[in-house]
Amino acid sequence: MKFTWAARSDTGRVRDHNEDATLPAAGTSGSGDHLVAAVADGMGGAAGGEIASTTAIATIAAVSGEVAIRIEAANLAVVEAAAQRPRLKGMGTTVTLGLFHTDGRLQIGHVGDSRAYLLRGGSLSQISTDHSFVGEMLTAGRMTEAEAEVHPYRSVLTRAVGLEPAVDIDVTNLVLAAGDRILLCSDGITAMLEDDEIQATLTTEAGPERAADALVTAANAAGGIDNISVVIVDAG
Ligand code: CA
Repeated sequence: MKFTWAARSDTGRVRDHNEDATLPAAGTSGSGDHLVAAVADGMGGAAGGEIASTTAIATIAAVSGEVAIRIEAANLAVVEAAAQRPRLKGMGTTVTLGLFHTDGRLQIGHVGDSRAYLLRGGSLSQISTDHSFVGEMLTAGRMTEAEAEVHPYRSVLTRAVGLEPAVDIDVTNLVLAAGDRILLCSDGITAMLEDDEIQATLTTEAGPERAADALVTAANAAGGIDNISVVIVDAG
């Protein structure tokens, strides 16, 4: 199987710096018979968010092995970086990581509220589960979508990479078919765009570069209140 991909990251229209990081690097695109792709959305004051997300992405790129091994290494790298600099204490990051294999297998590793989606046959489905307060309430049936969207704790994470020496990682395995499109994105997309808007954009835009640019443009047009990052991978 051949994968064609594009990665984009944008500060948005409100924040003054970008605490997201992507793999491959934002602004790049390409193709190949395998791929390691990820989105990380950092948090923490005093530049901590940027350091957490870039440290996690660099570690994921440098380590070999399955998603859990890479995310565990990223977790320890962020924990150690914070321990060395007290002003960075409490920094952390989401990680949504996809390992795309030449035989079509895709392994997703996920911590936090960035998301992985599959577009297949014009229909979008979310592969990851949000590790956020409202995400857990939704999953448990204790809150509606409408309540979740306006809840004051909607950005509070229940899991993150880099906070503690152990991290709980969701791992999902699927097999891709030709024509599938995978989206990894930070919440700068999903806070601004409904799933049906994301589906419409991913369905109409040909090629990952155009689709990635269109999603960033749409999130900014809807307000751009947060950093916006996407990695789009087409299987063919
Ligand atoms: Ca964010």
